[in-house]
Amino acid sequence: MRIVVVGAGIAGTVTGLALLREGHEVHILEGADAAACGASHANAGLVSPGHCFSWAEPGVMKMVVKSALGIGDGIGIYQPWSPALIKWGLMFNRQSKRERWLANSRAALALSAYSRDQLFGQSTIPRDSYDGKHTGILYLYGSDESLGADDAELLSQAGEAFQSLNADEVLECEPMFQSSTIRFDRAIYSPNDGTGDAARYAAAALKEAVKLGAQVHLSEPAVCLEQSGSRITAVVSNKRRYDTDAVVIASGLWSRGLLSRIGYNLPIHGVTGYSVTYKGPFSGVPKAGAVSIPHKIAWTAFGEDRIRFTGFADIGIPHRKRIEQQFDALTRFASSVLPDVKRFEPSKWVGQRPMTPDNLPFLGRGKHENLWLNCGHGAMGWTMACGSARIIADLIGGRIPQIDVTPYRLDRFS
Ligand SMILES: Cc1cc2nc3c(=O)[nH]c(=O)nc-3n(C[C@H](O)[C@H](O)[C@H](O)COP(=O)(O)OP(=O)(O)OC[C@H]3O[C@@H](n4cnc5c(N)ncnc54)[C@H](O)[C@@H]3O)c2cc1C
Repeated sequence: MRIVVVGAGIAGTVTGLALLREGHEVHILEGADAAACGASHANAGLVSPGHCFSWAEPGVMKMVVKSALGIGDGIGIYQPWSPALIKWGLMFNRQSKRERWLANSRAALALSAYSRDQLFGQSTIPRDSYDGKHTGILYLYGSDESLGADDAELLSQAGEAFQSLNADEVLECEPMFQSSTIRFDRAIYSPNDGTGDAARYAAAALKEAVKLGAQVHLSEPAVCLEQSGSRITAVVSNKRRYDTDAVVIASGLWSRGLLSRIGYNLPIHGVTGYSVTYKGPFSGVPKAGAVSIPHKIAWTAFGEDRIRFTGFADIGIPHRKRIEQQFDALTRFASSVLPDVKRFEPSKWVGQRPMTPDNLPFLGRGKHENLWLNCGHGAMGWTMACGSARIIADLIGGRIPQIDVTPYRLDRFS
């Protein structure tokens, strides 16, 4: 089959490669001049089923409202209240009811664990090409016992391996904390999770795809999809027209705009996050990736000489002052965890997570019989990339995917 994949972020590159391995003729269209210039560019690098739970959780709307009224600082809103944003907010609110949160978190965990096992178990991309490490992740909690109260139960139900650690065990597990000015009272350690640089993985996957015969078209955004009856017949870029048997939409946040021209209304909104990357040499690097859940900050070492801290969530694109404040908070936190980083000036990045109201991606057939969706992965696109690609390749190949894909279908909000 001749298949056009739109987008060369982590979702599009890995999907393109999976389709090539099935023997398809693959064209990858990317609007930017390189792969992984969008949300996949400088993310935290965590492959983290152990904390993939939905952000639409009970109590989150209170935090959003407080932030909107200026009496809290949880989630900033830096976008005009358009009808689309209001609708997205109402849908997000509905998903934050406890039963919905539990169901969405279980579905996120199923896809994340499946995807992690594909990445570390079977991937042919060598780990050193993306600083991949399969050494577990520490999920750190503060003293508030209510925080993450259901996490261990969700992991147990899914059969995930994990250990609950007290403050002394946390120190033992991560020697780097000996020099920290901050202490963590308890943690969950998920030994099967891991880390790696998503942008380097995307570049390596694209290189491998080209070796296998993919045609990659950079600086060539898809501008419209031509249709006849219930089928997409061609993808038109700014340069030419590609006749196609099938199309995979993997253009992250931008999938919404592209598909709105042919009658789709995907509820995907940008939720901004921030990252700072320090380049060493350091006197020591973290043994494993970690997330401080009360601070909403994650960190990862890529090899021995790069450490990245990421965090926070703002809806829309914040103004310069807010961006500076978020970077200040991030660098202050980094210095308290690993004082050694104070010697270095970090490179800074602002990215937007392509978020759906239930924090699950759209994965599967669209309204057209040959249009496949692989977009809207929110805060978990790197974790879910390899599994999502496998699922799309299975569906296009007429096979039943290895996990139940009904939670990710397009019409779930109707
Ligand atoms: C601060 C931060 C930290 C994060 N940390 C993690 C983490 O630790 N673990 C994790 O699993 N996830 C994490 N994420 C989420 C993850 O980065 C995203 O879910 C993931 O990158 C989405 O990948 P994507 O390929 O769908 O989108 P993108 O990477 O945005 O790729 C979409 C691509 O499509 C291209 N495109 C857009 N429109 C068109 C068009 N019309 N034609 C052709 N090309 C087009 C864009 O240029 C872009 O390259 C984080 C995100 C942020 C912002």
